[in-house]
Amino acid sequence: MKNQRMPLLVVGSVAFDALETPFGKVPRTLGGAATYFSVAASFFTHVQLVGVVGDDFSKRDAGIFRGRRIDIRGLERAAGKTFFWAGRYTDDMNDRVTLVTDLNVFAAFNPQLPVTYRRTPYIFLANIHPDLQRSVLQQVERRPRLVALDTMNYWIERTPAELRETLKHTQVLMINDTETRQLATERNLLRAARRIFAMGPHTLVIKRGEHGALMVHDKWMFAVPGYPLEQVQDPTGAGDSFAGGFMGYLAGSGRVNGATLRRAMVYGSVLGSFAVERFGLDRLRTLARREIEARARRFWQLTRFSL
Ligand code: AMP
Repeated sequence: MKNQRMPLLVVGSVAFDALETPFGKVPRTLGGAATYFSVAASFFTHVQLVGVVGDDFSKRDAGIFRGRRIDIRGLERAAGKTFFWAGRYTDDMNDRVTLVTDLNVFAAFNPQLPVTYRRTPYIFLANIHPDLQRSVLQQVERRPRLVALDTMNYWIERTPAELRETLKHTQVLMINDTETRQLATERNLLRAARRIFAMGPHTLVIKRGEHGALMVHDKWMFAVPGYPLEQVQDPTGAGDSFAGGFMGYLAGSGRVNGATLRRAMVYGSVLGSFAVERFGLDRLRTLARREIEARARRFWQLTRFSL
C-alpha cells in the first residue's frame, strides 16, 4: 500500500518579534512558534494553522503563508494587536533573555478548529497554555495518529496540573534539557525520561540547541548533532523549525516507526539549522527542497562510520 501524505495541524503563536543578537538588531519582524513551524513543515506536507492575529497583521505579513501548503482558515483575526515578543541573545547565542511578552490578542485566544481540520491525524501543540492545547484535542473528531507537544518553564511552574492533564493525551514531547529536568524533577536525563513516560508520552525529544537533539524512546535512543555552521545570526525559531521539520517529515511519510522517527530527527535538525542562519524567517523564506535534501545527506556523511 502506498504511503499517504497526511495533513498536519499546528496551534500556537503568530507574532511580531523584536530581536537582538551580536550580529544585529531587528525592531519588528514576523515570528511566532506556529509561523516557524508551518513554514518548516510545509516543505513536507499540508499544514493546517490555528492561531490568532490582530488588526495590525497586514496582507503583506500573511504573504509568508501564500504559495506554500499552509491552510490559514484557522488563523483568526481579532480586534487589537498581534502577540509581540522581544528577546536578546548574549555572545555565545545559547542564552536568551526575554525582554517583552505582550500577549495582546493572544490573551483572549480560544482556538476554534474549522470543520475541515477536525479529522487531522498529526497534531503539534506549540508552546501555549496547556488548557488551550487540550481544547484543540477536544475538538478533533477522530483519534489522532500522533500528538506532539512543546512547552516551557513558564507553564511547568505555573500550570503543572493542567500540563499533566494534556500530557496524558500526548505521544511525543519536544522540550529542551532544562525543561526536561524541571518537568521530571530529576537531573539525570534518562531517569527524567522514564518519569515523563509515566505521564503519557512514549517518546521524548530533547532539543539541545547547537549541541543537537536526543530522542529517548521507551526501548531505544537516537541522537543527532547540531549541524556545524559557519554563520549563525539569530537562534530564534530554531526549536519550532526543528519541530516543523520533524512533524512535517512524519506526516509527509504517513508512517510512525523507528525508521521514520530517526529520519524525522534529521529533518528537524536540518530545518532548525537553516532557520538560524539569518534573522527571523529570512532563511526559511528562500529555502528550497533540494537544499533540505542536500543538508540531510551531509548529516548522514557527518555521522556515519564503520565498526
Ligand atoms: P523558539 O526560538 O523556537 O523557542 O521560538 C521563538 C518564537 O516563539 C518567537 O518567534 C516568539 O514570537 C514565540 N514566543 C516567545 N514567547 C512565547 C510565549 N510565551 N508564547 C508563545 N510564543 C512565544
